[in-house]
Amino acid sequence: MNNKNPILVHACCASCSSYVIPHLQEIFNVSAFFYNPNIYPEKEYILRLEEMKFLCKRLNVRLTIGPYDTSTWGKAVFPYRNLPEKSKRCWECYNLRLYKTAEKAANLGIELFTTTLSVSPHKIYKRIEEGGKAAAKRYAITFHNEDFKKKDGFKISVKRSKQLGLTRQDYCGCIYSLRESQERISKKKEHEGDAS
Ligand code: SF4
Repeated sequence: MNNKNPILVHACCASCSSYVIPHLQEIFNVSAFFYNPNIYPEKEYILRLEEMKFLCKRLNVRLTIGPYDTSTWGKAVFPYRNLPEKSKRCWECYNLRLYKTAEKAANLGIELFTTTLSVSPHKIYKRIEEGGKAAAKRYAITFHNEDFKKKDGFKISVKRSKQLGLTRQDYCGCIYSLRESQERISKKKEHEGDAS
């Protein structure tokens, strides 16, 4: 019997979760929620979901899977689609996933929730914090407000994901971040070509 308080953790991927979930398991009875309609293309979504199932089995964590409602995500970020990563496009993307996780936690009778998103140095922690608190207020529950990249959280997640053979992609997840990553790679190649 686990007497620890329950928490629902929004999991963006197995790699980030490989640090966040064991870290939270020291204090809480953790369940995971995979809700990431931002991920493109669908085969990448399936890969990340399968890796999440593998990790949850290994950590003995219950996993709930949200809908892959890409049109809901597309509508939320569409006005900001031409803005770069870390802009309002991303804040809307965080919010969509945070509100859905808060709603799921409330439906499951879990009074505490959080997200793995803050383990990434590419995410704006302040915006995650704001979105988490606002979502918690709407559903009358509590947001566990922790910047998981602290205490070497990100470094540990990289090390663990290598040990577990998990994929670490070179883009955040959405079609826009994929394009941005491809542009970065081709500029780098052009630069290398100029230098040779
Ligand atoms: S870059 Fe990442 S956080 Fe930003 S909109 Fe795309 S998937 Fe969401």
